[in-house]
Amino acid sequence: MAQGKSREGAAVDALAGGLGDLASVHSSQLARLMTLGFEACSVPVALFAPDDTIAFANDAYRALMNVPDDARTFGDVVRHAHRTGRGPVLSMEPEAWLAMATSRRRVREVRSFEVDFLDGSWFMVTESCVEGGWIWDFYTDITSLKSKEQTLLVARDTALRHADTDPLTGLYNRRYGVSELDHRIGVAARRGGELSVVLMDLDHFKVINDTRGHLAGDDVLTHFAAEVGQLVRRADTFARYGGEEFLLIMPDAGEREAQAVIERVRQRIAGSALEKLGHGYSFSAGIARMCDGDDVQSLLRRADEALYAAKAAGRNCSRVAEPPSA
Ligand code: GH3
Ligand code: MG
Ligand code: MG
Repeated sequence: MAQGKSREGAAVDALAGGLGDLASVHSSQLARLMTLGFEACSVPVALFAPDDTIAFANDAYRALMNVPDDARTFGDVVRHAHRTGRGPVLSMEPEAWLAMATSRRRVREVRSFEVDFLDGSWFMVTESCVEGGWIWDFYTDITSLKSKEQTLLVARDTALRHADTDPLTGLYNRRYGVSELDHRIGVAARRGGELSVVLMDLDHFKVINDTRGHLAGDDVLTHFAAEVGQLVRRADTFARYGGEEFLLIMPDAGEREAQAVIERVRQRIAGSALEKLGHGYSFSAGIARMCDGDDVQSLLRRADEALYAAKAAGRNCSRVAEPPSA
């Protein structure tokens, strides 16, 4: 309690000094009332002198910031919080963090920012710079807002993921594949790099459904997605384009590289389908390389024509599209 009194006394002096001539008759009484009010208030409040000495900090501030009794400055508070593992989260080493925080203090008349604490709480700090470099810090508890924001962010990310994903195979869906292709065409056109696309379609898939059932058909789609997914490069985008049709986008790859990948896929499917599904299956592929002036439609149309040619050639093979005639 004696400790509290001396703190209070120092704050009263600080406040009275700050009030100056404004209310010379009542200033000390007013300052005393204000100090008592801040002291009783549950909102963490602190007043710092121009050299960052703590002129006043109410109990709520001391509890939140884990202020030790012998702390003189804001720096003492931060170092103690770091040492004891209670107080604000420091995103870097304490001295570097202090240098960063100090460089921001007093740069504007009023400044607001969010601070998270090691106990999981969040506060919005409003820092008001008053005469001569004195600053008031007011802390508003925004933990429940933050937790709602977090829930909404997770829900938004989940919704975005679902909007881009095919639920059966877990691959990107057609919507995402086409928008990614549009993006990749733009990048290749700007940088002058190569870009190839492959459309793959399972052969006689209807027969698989008809003879083994729809669930067995689903298993084939999942198997194909997983096996091809193991072979594509990180830069590639592999999407389910439609029922039993798949789109592979290969940046920085010409038709030779695309053909090599497709042949690896063919061998892998031939090697694992019987073991994993109990029966084999095959696919046909159409490959098209991006040429000058190509857009999503023209590039996919050539890949589709090449796919049709592969089907016409007896299936279980791939064909490369001719470049567009000038
Ligand atoms: P082709 O070799 O000419 O491509 O013949 P196909 O039988 O593969 O082609 P077709 O277009 O005649 O049949 C495709 C079948 O794919 C018909 C459709 O019911 C089936 N299908 C589409 N989506 C799904 C799915 O999600 N699951 C299952 N099991 N079947 C699907
Ligand atoms: Mg098919
Ligand atoms: Mg098809």
